[in-house]
Amino acid sequence: MKAMLLESTGDVDPLHPPLKLVQQPEPTLNPGEVLLKVTRCGVCHTELDEIEGRMPPPRLPIILGHQVVGIIEEGGNKGSRVGAAWIASACGDCDFCNCGRENLCPDFKATGRDIDGGYAEYMKVRADFVHHIPDSISDSEAAPLLCAGAIGYRSLRLSNLQDGGSLGLMGFGGSNHLVLKLVKFKFPNSKVFAFSRNPQEREFALSLGAAWAGGIDQNPPGVLDAVIDTTPVWGPGIEALKILKPGGRLVINAIRKEDKDKDILLQLNYPAHLWMEKEVKSVANVTREDVSEFLKLAAEAGIKPEYQEYDLKDANQALVEMKQGKIRGAKVITVN
Ligand SMILES: [Zn+2]
Ligand SMILES: [Zn+2]
Repeated sequence: MKAMLLESTGDVDPLHPPLKLVQQPEPTLNPGEVLLKVTRCGVCHTELDEIEGRMPPPRLPIILGHQVVGIIEEGGNKGSRVGAAWIASACGDCDFCNCGRENLCPDFKATGRDIDGGYAEYMKVRADFVHHIPDSISDSEAAPLLCAGAIGYRSLRLSNLQDGGSLGLMGFGGSNHLVLKLVKFKFPNSKVFAFSRNPQEREFALSLGAAWAGGIDQNPPGVLDAVIDTTPVWGPGIEALKILKPGGRLVINAIRKEDKDKDILLQLNYPAHLWMEKEVKSVANVTREDVSEFLKLAAEAGIKPEYQEYDLKDANQALVEMKQGKIRGAKVITVN
């Protein structure tokens, strides 16, 4: 099969494409696994964290990709269309797994990091960790819902936003544009304020119904009940804390932050940024429930991502463009 392989970690840069197109044998199944013929795989910012070594895969080479849509070819309901998400497995037996928080399991394994992912023609996955995809959602539409959407859904839940409350979105890429669509459906009386350094993203947010869009350091009209920060750096989080209402919550939807502007944390000012019971909460991974609930909700609400498609062999171009911030919605690799 054809696969795009990550052989070593390093900076993502157009002159040194991180992934190599190779031919390799199809995976062989263990009991309880299914073989997927991959049709689409979404591109996630987490891939940059893996490639650039902020969260290196435990073994190399590896096939990245954790928003995988495919058809079961072997080991299960042959012919059924399913999705594989970031959660590849959890132990099923620890305190976290036993209380619906399998995303925090110490033995959490991630697709495209701990096991080979979907930047390939085939992949294998545990049968009890695949998700049915509603018929109204196409393969390309489904791929970004599996991570960007599911983790956006989890982030929105953790933000404690209620209908009528105001929500800030720091960064407006694959995940937050789906959060905006979700808020429009679930909380019709809420206002969403979008923050981005990129004017196209700001315009995009307004076109999807944001009440206001501005730069990261611009003040929105009014203070906010919650902010979801999807940016890879620290500055936006500091700005977000400043504009939260008393008791408001900042949710950081990022698996890693880059170090380049870390010095800004020294500007953290307790009375301005944290006092008055402001909270900071990170989001870690997703549960199977997050993914399946969000897929159902997306079908019900008609939530569809905006996306651009790239051929499997052009996965490097998608990654470079993501690194450069050339994002409008989500990026999807087309495979079969
Ligand atoms: Zn992801
Ligand atoms: Zn566990």
